[in-house]
Amino acid sequence: MADSDKNSNQRNQSVCPFCGSKARIRSSSRITALYAEGVVECSNIIECGWRGWFATEILSSITPSLRPSTVSLPLSPYAIKRQEKAKQLTKNPFDPNRDQMPLFESH
Ligand SMILES: [Zn+2]
Repeated sequence: MADSDKNSNQRNQSVCPFCGSKARIRSSSRITALYAEGVVECSNIIECGWRGWFATEILSSITPSLRPSTVSLPLSPYAIKRQEKAKQLTKNPFDPNRDQMPLFESH
């Protein structure tokens, strides 16, 4: 099995960058609402034994939260594209006011 196949089967699993074995998160601390750091350790203790420092960061929203918050995150490029597509689909070509049409109509 190629290394890339092995990695795709372990989507939520960290992988040791040196031997490809599973890597476990030993400790982590949240620095901000969007950023955390911690220690990650290779499970292949006898043949590898690597330990490292990792960071994880939330970069953007795909679907914005419905809950109000002080956290400010940009929309992901994917979400912006999806929003543009939805805007185009709601436009009726026979509606003379189509350019003033809101994206979401309130009922
Ligand atoms: Zn390793």
